[in-house]
Amino acid sequence: MKTPFVSKEKLEEIIREIPTPFHIYDEKGIRENARRVREAFSWNKGFREYFAVKAEPNPAILQVLKEEGCGCDCSSLTELMMAKAIGCGGELTMFSSNDTPDEEYVMANEMNAIINLDDITMIDSFAKAVGTFPKTMCCRYNPGGVFKVSNGIMDTPGDAKYGMTTDQIFKAYRILKSNGVENFGLHSFLVSNAVTNDYYPMLAKLLFQLAVELQKDTGCHISFINLSGGIGIPYKPGENEIDIYEIGEGVRKAYEEVLVPAGMGDVAIYTELGRFMTGPYGALITTAIHEKNIMKHYIGVDACACNLMRPAMYGAYHHITVMGKEMAPYTNIYDVTGSLCENNDKFAIDRMLPKIDMGDILYIHDTGAHGFAMGYNYNGKLRSAEVLLHEDGSFTKIRRAETPADYFSTFEEMPFYGKLMEQL
Ligand SMILES: *Cc1c(COP(=O)(O)O)cnc(C)c1O
Repeated sequence: MKTPFVSKEKLEEIIREIPTPFHIYDEKGIRENARRVREAFSWNKGFREYFAVKAEPNPAILQVLKEEGCGCDCSSLTELMMAKAIGCGGELTMFSSNDTPDEEYVMANEMNAIINLDDITMIDSFAKAVGTFPKTMCCRYNPGGVFKVSNGIMDTPGDAKYGMTTDQIFKAYRILKSNGVENFGLHSFLVSNAVTNDYYPMLAKLLFQLAVELQKDTGCHISFINLSGGIGIPYKPGENEIDIYEIGEGVRKAYEEVLVPAGMGDVAIYTELGRFMTGPYGALITTAIHEKNIMKHYIGVDACACNLMRPAMYGAYHHITVMGKEMAPYTNIYDVTGSLCENNDKFAIDRMLPKIDMGDILYIHDTGAHGFAMGYNYNGKLRSAEVLLHEDGSFTKIRRAETPADYFSTFEEMPFYGKLMEQL
């Protein structure tokens, strides 16, 4: 059973002010979860979670996480700008990007962010863009092959575009050291949405062993290891929920087995979790506006894939609660659709749900990460508002919905711009 974090009455109150569709976030849930992550890794003195900004790029959410001790993990210019705006300069920002434009290195360097190089050629790119190297730098590792955890193969790093090979990372460390870099980080991201407690501990062990070799072989001082993102959440009811305390404990064991005996017990552990930090604490709120019965039964809602792309993009499951009908029998099989001229614009296919009436409020679960963030403007659709529900039940609009004026604004130098704007 999946339960909404907000009541039907509260949603009706919000909708009177902010029409559907919108994404809503649960501040209490985000804070409590961030505290659990911190506690799970509290055995490590330098631990820090750098929230992956791309998962939910809203300064209000970044601010909440910052108050819970999180930094920002950025991978683009605008993400860096948001991190800077909320005061995450210096070591509070990690810049983990790939195929990086020069201007982004310049910006990250100006912010004194910790820069993670995705490729050995990026050493030259960075030098050309910035000039001198900061004292601390990080390199991203790709072990290649397939990555196996105890319950099966999880992903194929060998097919991924990210990171440096083992050979390259040894070379990269030497080159950086000869350019005056003094503190080194090691980073790797192998799996997304891993719903097993094994992933982090296994990745940690692999990185710890490499770190010991790297430090021995190159003489470089490794000051942190970044396990990046990838810890998953249960999108389906009854799906395995990971235990962050067990994960923290698993990483600690690997740390004590590998790093401590090598005299590297001062290495800080960083994470860059996105989905795990905010995913379950966001929902897309939409209203049923049409019912259509042909070969199948369709419920048309006022949100579409532009508001939540995951089902259309990878057939991802998002649970749906019909507000006020939590206890009603699940009697109907529906496709729940948006209005895009794209047949993949479906939030649910052949889903058993209670009978839906027009005007019913649908709560689409687990949209707090990679939800609004993946939004787009296909079919001229406008991005929705975002709402933050506070612990005391009050709420704040943390982003207004786009208007046609926003959509047309990039035409402002075009001759027909006036004709568009006069219709508003
Ligand atoms: C996407 C991303 C993350 C976050 O991934 P999640 O699966 O949401 O935890 C972290 N680091 C980097 C470099 C990423 O690209």
